[in-house]
Amino acid sequence: VKDYLSQIALNSHLNAFVEVFEKEAVERAIVIGEKLKNNTAGRLAGMVISIKDNILYKGHKASASSKILENYKAIYSSTIVERLLAEDAIIIGRCNCDEFAMGASNQNSYYGAVKNFADNARVPGGSSGGSAVSVQAGMCHAAIGTDTGGSVRQPASFCGIIGFKPTYGRISRHGIIAYASSFDQVGTLTRSVEDAVLLTEVMAGPDQYDSTLIQSKADSYGIETAGTAKKKIAYLKEALERPGLDEAVKTALEDTIANLKAQGHTVEPVSFEYLDYVVPTYYILTMAEASSNLARYDGVHYGYRSPNATDLTSTYKLSRSEGFGKEVKRRIMLGTFILSAGYYDAYYTKAQKMRRLIRDKTFEILKEYDLILTPTAPEPAFRLDREEKDPVVSYLSDIFTVQASLAGLPAISLPVKNKSSKLPLGMQLSAKPLAERELLSFSKIFL
Ligand code: GLN
Repeated sequence: VKDYLSQIALNSHLNAFVEVFEKEAVERAIVIGEKLKNNTAGRLAGMVISIKDNILYKGHKASASSKILENYKAIYSSTIVERLLAEDAIIIGRCNCDEFAMGASNQNSYYGAVKNFADNARVPGGSSGGSAVSVQAGMCHAAIGTDTGGSVRQPASFCGIIGFKPTYGRISRHGIIAYASSFDQVGTLTRSVEDAVLLTEVMAGPDQYDSTLIQSKADSYGIETAGTAKKKIAYLKEALERPGLDEAVKTALEDTIANLKAQGHTVEPVSFEYLDYVVPTYYILTMAEASSNLARYDGVHYGYRSPNATDLTSTYKLSRSEGFGKEVKRRIMLGTFILSAGYYDAYYTKAQKMRRLIRDKTFEILKEYDLILTPTAPEPAFRLDREEKDPVVSYLSDIFTVQASLAGLPAISLPVKNKSSKLPLGMQLSAKPLAERELLSFSKIFL
């Protein structure tokens, strides 16, 4: 714990943590040390973990990196935090993220941007950017993030670590600040596949407080030792041919395909004609859900209340105008428009239909193939000073990650060696729903 605390202090310029639980972490380490001596310690004893700032931990602040929740203190712990603590994990602090997990660069945070440890002039990706950097820079052992449309996988790719999101419904979201509930998932950021397995095993499983959970308890996500079985892997033809795909990413994908073939796996191109529709579908649905989820921040129940308010209406208006950042406001307004009586069918219903088509087509591919391979993101970490006049540019960063989110699939971003770029790069593998074991076992060989 002390070593990690000194790394955190040394790297404070990266802005990865919003708050460090210094005293508590040291005290817990002593208690767990005693348990280890008595052989009564849990499965995660000694594991030092950071949590994203949208995960509730009783008695600690949780702000979703938003001004509107700046001083909010959790009055209960999320199910995942309870499960991590029950196995003797040590939570070292809460990490910076994009406000309400909306973003792909961690630049939309009330606490300012996070910097990539590999190149301080670049972004770490988002929205779990602080979480990714906390692992990348050796400030903790592993991090817990959330992934709605890529927020664990894309920063893992930008930071050269492993980002894993299980099947929709595997891990409870009770006590996670909601963004878009039919997508939100808890995920892990780690340096090894084994750590992803261990953390997922501890966190997953039924929970009476989240009715969307898959009720069957998967016993183990463990890595099969006999992991040598040859796989049938599909890669998306449209992904490789995509104009604007960064050259380094393209080369890394081609090298990955060649390596997998050399190892005896079958790797074939498949056509996925909906690739151009995944981003619009994802954003229409998530904005609609976000506008509804974020209606609860009204300046009355909790969070920021404008000191300039004079009555109920001005409390709502001013608290929300002053409390939310620009990107969050944009999404609330668009989401409200999408759900409005006159446009509901044209946008929301249509996007739901599109989601079904995307899901069906994806399942069709996975009937014939074990895994789908794509780059995690169309480019490596971009510069902090890249001026984003058009938010759609940033939304397109999710082109490869949202397919798994729309279809509810488990997916992982694995770092790959690449000869043409000094920056870290990740490749993404997704599998059938509930096929975590197969996906993680294969990931182990892949690395
Ligand atoms: N970049 C995507 C978005 O802004 C993904 C975010 C996420 O997964 N939380 O919606």
